[in-house]
Amino acid sequence: MKIEFKEYQLALNYPFKIADYTRTSTPLVFVHLSDEGIEGIGEASMPPYLGENIETAFAFLEKVKIDRFSSIEEILKVVDAIADGNNAVKAAVDIALHHWYCKKHNIPLYKYFQSDPANMPYTSFTLGIDTKEVLKEKIKDADPFHRIKIKLGSENDKEIINTIRSISNKEIVVDANRGWKNKEEAAAMIDWLASKNCLFVEQPMPVDQFEDMLWLKSRSALPLFADESCKRLKDIELVKDGFHGINIKLMNSTGLHEAQKMINKARELNLQLMIGCMSESSCGILAAAALAPQCDYADLDSPWMVSNNPFENPVLKDGKIELLD
Ligand code: MG
Repeated sequence: MKIEFKEYQLALNYPFKIADYTRTSTPLVFVHLSDEGIEGIGEASMPPYLGENIETAFAFLEKVKIDRFSSIEEILKVVDAIADGNNAVKAAVDIALHHWYCKKHNIPLYKYFQSDPANMPYTSFTLGIDTKEVLKEKIKDADPFHRIKIKLGSENDKEIINTIRSISNKEIVVDANRGWKNKEEAAAMIDWLASKNCLFVEQPMPVDQFEDMLWLKSRSALPLFADESCKRLKDIELVKDGFHGINIKLMNSTGLHEAQKMINKARELNLQLMIGCMSESSCGILAAAALAPQCDYADLDSPWMVSNNPFENPVLKDGKIELLD
């Protein structure tokens, strides 16, 4: 198989602020795999705080040699063994491989994974933290979506929620992005959020405060989802007692193949599931959408948050991404 790759800067509509960090664009690498006249495309999205970048991705891809197509599993095993980490660029290869395989066999990706489109969850739409005046404008972008995602984890969390609640009654999902350091305060905040029609909280505390998460889970008024605490299959055993569910992202899981294994494992352990994303184009988002019907929640909003998606945006119907044959 021939492998080619190129870089792309995905420009955000609004500077993106989370608990400890702000940015205006996200570096991507697109991977093109071709063989037998068929081309598969994959994507790596690399927000700088995750440690990958264009240079590390290119250096990794120089080492990927696929002499001939054997099986997806076999190829990905070899790719994963090239080096530790590099999860996003591994995902790019994985997505391109699945794209190629499904095109060759003329089968939609969601059917390959035996996902039932009837079970597609709503996709939440992330509203960045801002002043009430700006939020009143921004909230119009959330019109086609049924759920709003809010990033908390700063001094004025209640003020942010109250501001949103003064302009919208939509269900809110909260991502604290490791921003709460004190378990009692986190528990009190979660009680309050539950009274404000919030559905769950993602990554309330830092990854290393696992003992606090055991306590918090035991008395939390809302389900708690692991994001930064659970990136790959091997992490699920470590977080299963501290969280009610996990957020799977292809850029963390090294792609679809391992994401499906994570879904199966999480179900075995009675964990809830959400599928999320980094700042990705439609390439990564449509790949994740193929697994979304197997999850309880979806957070696949990035194509609607960028100004230069090089592909068409996914089709959104009744707040859900439509899976096309
Ligand atoms: Mg998160």
